[in-house]
Amino acid sequence: MSKIIVLMGAPGAGKGTQARLLEERHNLPQISTGDMFRALATDQTALAEEVRAVQAAGKLISDDLVIRIVQERTNREDCKHGYVLDGFPRTTVQAAMLEKLAVEQGKKILAVLVDVPLEELEKRATGRRSCPICGEIYNVYFKPPKVEGVCDLHPDAQLIHRTDDTAEKIKVRLATYEQQTRPLLDYYEKSNRLHRVDGTRAPEAIYADIEKVVNRES
Ligand SMILES: [Zn+2]
Repeated sequence: MSKIIVLMGAPGAGKGTQARLLEERHNLPQISTGDMFRALATDQTALAEEVRAVQAAGKLISDDLVIRIVQERTNREDCKHGYVLDGFPRTTVQAAMLEKLAVEQGKKILAVLVDVPLEELEKRATGRRSCPICGEIYNVYFKPPKVEGVCDLHPDAQLIHRTDDTAEKIKVRLATYEQQTRPLLDYYEKSNRLHRVDGTRAPEAIYADIEKVVNRES
């Protein structure tokens, strides 16, 4: 049975890399809400027009409309053998709607959490530095430059620390994520469909575990 993989992970957990690997190696397209809404801004379909009308009126996109957007996108040919959802469902109401869609599409849902402890997420974000010349990313905790504060390849370039990466802002961002996601994790855990993957390791090691889950749950 083909699968709908609900991919979850906090900001900075490395979920995007895993979604890309699943797409490249497992032929499972990544369906993200961000991409869908970007496409709807220019699509010439009845649904896209409806979404634009709602947005133009300054109204919120209802759950009912969101599920129709997901449905339209995932009924396309490229999703026939399964797909990865990123950013949907956000609530248990949406999760319940997804159950119906999965039945309609003859697919099985499994949730994968790229699990990274809060302290490490904070260090990943607050320790992050980048070179203004080559864009190389460093981390003062995990991947420090040879000389503090400057790029290994550009010794004259002072590394940049993004201002929105302050500890306070990151704590708030992660707490908000945690609060919003907790009910969904519980939802999938209760029905034995939540798979936690240790996200503190290298991307390839994480992917190997995700692949096992995806292959096993057939
Ligand atoms: Zn550099």
